Amino acid sequence: MSARNPLEWPFFTPAHRALGTRLEAWAGEHLSQTTGAEDAPAVERACRSLAVAMGEAGWTTYCVGNGAHRSAEPSGTAFDIRALALIRETFARHDALADFVFAMQGLGSGPISLAGSAPLKERYLPKVVSGAALAAFALSEPNAGSDVAALECSARRDGDTYVLEGQKTWISNGGIADFYCVFARTGEPQRRPDGAVSAEGISAFVVDADAPGLEIAERFTPMSPHPLARLRLHACRVPATQRLGDEGEGFKLAMRTLDVFRTTVAGAALGLAQCAFDAALSHVGERRMFGRTLADFQLTQASLAEMAAELDAARLLTYRAAWLRDRGEAATQEVAIAKMTATESAQRIIDRALQLFGGRGVVRGERLERLYRDIRALRIYEGATEVQKLIIGRELLRSSRGRRVEHV
Ligand SMILES: Cc1cc2nc3c(=O)[nH]c(=O)nc-3n(C[C@H](O)[C@H](O)[C@H](O)COP(=O)(O)OP(=O)(O)OC[C@H]3O[C@@H](n4cnc5c(N)ncnc54)[C@H](O)[C@@H]3O)c2cc1C
Repeated sequence: MSARNPLEWPFFTPAHRALGTRLEAWAGEHLSQTTGAEDAPAVERACRSLAVAMGEAGWTTYCVGNGAHRSAEPSGTAFDIRALALIRETFARHDALADFVFAMQGLGSGPISLAGSAPLKERYLPKVVSGAALAAFALSEPNAGSDVAALECSARRDGDTYVLEGQKTWISNGGIADFYCVFARTGEPQRRPDGAVSAEGISAFVVDADAPGLEIAERFTPMSPHPLARLRLHACRVPATQRLGDEGEGFKLAMRTLDVFRTTVAGAALGLAQCAFDAALSHVGERRMFGRTLADFQLTQASLAEMAAELDAARLLTYRAAWLRDRGEAATQEVAIAKMTATESAQRIIDRALQLFGGRGVVRGERLERLYRDIRALRIYEGATEVQKLIIGRELLRSSRGRRVEHV
């Protein structure tokens, strides 16, 4: 195998290399049928059957962070983030919906893996792994997206239960999930001197989809088709045993969960970009114009060169971040750089590839047209690009101040 094969990079262990090979074989065989599902019932059916198929193949065991697949390095977490990113990259290259299903089984059950009691883990995680239950992560609200600490949904303690009131929006798997990890206020919001709401007083709960008082208030049709909804919680009573971790620790839990899965968003972006690049490379060799092929023009070669360089850089940053996380190192800055670079680069690569397809590129049902839609939300969710820039800036300043102090 050539060192140009990313799996040969030193970021990976032999187990990751074997995983990459098995994944490719499985995805090639199983994912072509679901590619391109657009209407809601077909998407919902595909989500359920993909979750079961992934469970049977063993991929979703990586979602629940039980440590079974932890790589050889001393790891600070039970998740194998390189494996998660590899799986998302491979699935996204074959079928964005498959990537979505896998990602949500991980993100939606992540708070249970990280902070659930033993009975909660026992009740939910095996069903996530087998695909018998679909998971959802319910953090965002109409008035709390990027500024998520401002969330208003409340959870009032009443004996051995909590009563939830409020709304959650942009919830992936909303309407088809079997349970939701819901973040809600158990304490009064506190304003900081700068006017922002502080992150204290938030707790997390597992709410079953059939819990009385939980309803789907609105279903959305995102440009990359997948279930997406706004939830309303009204007098929604859940047993206190459904709480994840300690009261008031919910915001930290949400951030810890996102911290695990953010690098994998970069992995998915790589897969979408690679798919576009491969399609462009093959198309330019075939498309004839002016007595030559499109590939013969230097402008085309320049475009391919830019795409290849961006893709390579994004992949290196992504797996560097995943490798650092798997070593248990604090890698907030590297993870933010990876998420920002991979998603922004993928958008540009897909756009360039679409340009090379000319009119065909914008026709509904064409692969490039679908990729153009599939990539867009990755620059927004799990921290928009602007939020990643703020994180990177904050980390840079923090470390430069630390250095200045060391020099005093
Ligand atoms: C397809 C999709 C799926 C999603 N799935 C889920 C889910 O499963 N669960 C869940 O809880 N949420 C989910 N979300 C919500 C997602 O996390 C939010 O959309 C995201 O946090 C942004 O919040 P917002 O949409 O309210 O935009 P806003 O917070 O209003 O931000 C709008 C824009 O403002 C800019 N911005 C933000 N902060 C700053 C700043 N400090 N300085 C300058 N500019 C800034 C960014 O460009 C940002 O995109 C999903 C979103 C999408 C699009």
